[in-house]
Amino acid sequence: MTTMISLSEAIRKTLEMTSRLPVESVPLSEASGRILAEEVATDIDMPPFDKSSMDGFALRAHDCAKLPATLEVAGQIPAGTYPDFQISKGQAAGIMTGAPMPDGADSVQQVEKTQSPTPTSVSILEPVRPGQNVARRGEIMTTGQRVLASGVRISAAVVGLLATVGKYQVQVYRRPTVAILVTGDELVGVDEIPGPGQIRNSNGYALCAQVLAAGAIAETMGVAADERDELREKIRIGLECDVLILSGGVSMGEYDFVAEALTELGTNIHYNKVRVKPGKPTVFGHRGDTLVFGLPGNPVSASTIFELIARPALRKMMGFAQFQNLQVEAVLDGEFVSKTNRAYFHPAHTCFRDGAYHTTPLQTTGSADIWAFARSNSYVIAPPEQDYFEVSQKVGVLFHGDSHPANCEEGSPA
Ligand code: AMP
Ligand code: MG
Repeated sequence: MTTMISLSEAIRKTLEMTSRLPVESVPLSEASGRILAEEVATDIDMPPFDKSSMDGFALRAHDCAKLPATLEVAGQIPAGTYPDFQISKGQAAGIMTGAPMPDGADSVQQVEKTQSPTPTSVSILEPVRPGQNVARRGEIMTTGQRVLASGVRISAAVVGLLATVGKYQVQVYRRPTVAILVTGDELVGVDEIPGPGQIRNSNGYALCAQVLAAGAIAETMGVAADERDELREKIRIGLECDVLILSGGVSMGEYDFVAEALTELGTNIHYNKVRVKPGKPTVFGHRGDTLVFGLPGNPVSASTIFELIARPALRKMMGFAQFQNLQVEAVLDGEFVSKTNRAYFHPAHTCFRDGAYHTTPLQTTGSADIWAFARSNSYVIAPPEQDYFEVSQKVGVLFHGDSHPANCEEGSPA
């Protein structure tokens, strides 16, 4: 049975079959990059006490009405201590950034605007407003206040906030385990010199890198020969993971047994051809809670279908609200022709310059051209109905999931 569907239909069907994974609890030190699965409230006021935001002198602003004002230094307050004295009229206390304000003082003058004629006196040289350079208790957040909603991505800044509010154990969505099984009798290890008719297994490594960059857990299963029994046995093991990603063996060749083996093992196949270039032979199915992606063997096709279809599914499983890679409009820095009536994703280099995205379609020999692909950080998108694109016109661009779109300076391979 052959079911050729459009790319958008393939993405829709895939996401429809994809569920967010259950919640798990992880230590804060491992929460970075995950999606928060609980609301978080603060258990303390922040700041927890009125504190100085400068190194200087805590004083009563009214005492500095006439300048210079010479005040008696009643003591010193380093950060991490709590003052056991108070400031009366005509007095000041040396205070460090982050240290608690002494009772009686209402403001801080920074040390640069003072002089200390003796160790026990200070001259204030510039006026001070009441409250100046003092951070009030609870001005950022107060005990019990909700500071994070469920569904937030835990960035480094969010990690800092979670630490501040004492959240050392965090509820997040589970990350999928992703088995990666590449197929092909011609494949040899990357540490080998390919013999006649052989090539190195690059997909196993590239797909592993993509799975990791997506934030999922990669379980590489090595190479399966183009042989029914071996393939079936390895697929049986791979189906134990949340996701099984295969590469190769999904076209119409004599030795393309992947779909057959999947079906024998009870996998429900939802489509096996997508109207997209590269990557027409693409299998998607599920068995129980496990999703299966059979990607084409050509390296650029395999990585591209991963970006277009598999990565969005992984993101949905991990609780992300946004599943797709970043897509923008860009100015085309070179003419571009699409000779296919499938949706065409052509490797391109895109960067942000002079207030707009600019994209350069890269010269490539096709979907085996891993060198051109490695120079790209994105794709120019040619819709099926359009074949010619002029220089300077606007085109759609889809970024690779692990590229940083703003960085024009990033080195690219020779
Ligand atoms: P297939 O989809 O199995 O017909 O393979 C299509 C092309 O991709 C063939 O030229 C394969 O040699 C190549 N290929 C398949 N698997 C890999 C892999 N793991 N690494 C690099 N190239 C591959
Ligand atoms: Mg093959």
